[in-house]
Amino acid sequence: MRVALVTVGDELLAGETVNTNAAWLGEQLTERGASVERVVTLPDREADIARTVNEYHAEYDAVVVTGGLGPTHDDLTMAGVAAAFGRPLERNEEALAWLEDHGGYARADLAAGTADLPAGARVLHNEAGVAPGCVVESVYVLPGVPSEMKAMFESIREEFEGVRLHVATVEVDEPESALVDRFEEVQSAFDVTLGSYPGDHVTVRVRGEDEAAVERAAAWLRERVELLDEE
Ligand code: ATP
Ligand code: MG
Repeated sequence: MRVALVTVGDELLAGETVNTNAAWLGEQLTERGASVERVVTLPDREADIARTVNEYHAEYDAVVVTGGLGPTHDDLTMAGVAAAFGRPLERNEEALAWLEDHGGYARADLAAGTADLPAGARVLHNEAGVAPGCVVESVYVLPGVPSEMKAMFESIREEFEGVRLHVATVEVDEPESALVDRFEEVQSAFDVTLGSYPGDHVTVRVRGEDEAAVERAAAWLRERVELLDEE
């Protein structure tokens, strides 16, 4: 299952808020076996959200959008998603009833627009906040507040799946440029892909669908590179 993540918020683009939602969702989805192939951050601008959701809905098996829910002037995500599907935004009675029953909110106290969702959307209730999320076809719309986003993701986690990749890690004490030939060799000998991540030292991640092939490839590398002392 190929998934795109769309994170919405001017504050993310300005670097005022670190995009922890993208990292957390990437990890959770990968753990499910889904393949996250895009992460994009958009401004709080309806037309940009509509265009990107429309495009990614056509391209990916699922799209997960976070941020910009709720009724304030800069919360344009629901309008953008509705526009992507050519649907109107409508007051969602099920979402309102849930907020009354579980949230303890009287309808009159909720800001206008709090429960406006694209017509025909499936409601995702917000166990940790107010603004509801929703699902339109294969587009999942979640809150921006990390605790709310995580709580809501639990209700849809099972809907994401795929073949989980096995991963083995090799910590190497050699410069990355010296490793090129061995990287090529291991990838042609085994059915795996390699990721090489330089930092204080080079971390190599061997990934593949076949666990035995991953372990053999990692063992092959460990015999042929200078390993970091801790290993
Ligand atoms: P609410 O329903 O409370 O209005 P919301 O869904 O509208 O929430 P935003 O208004 O976009 O969410 O953001 C709420 C808070 O969550 C802000 O402090 C914002 O910086 C933070 N936030 C939004 N997106 C992310 C993200 N991708 N990673 C981490 N924090 C985020
Ligand atoms: Mg908001």
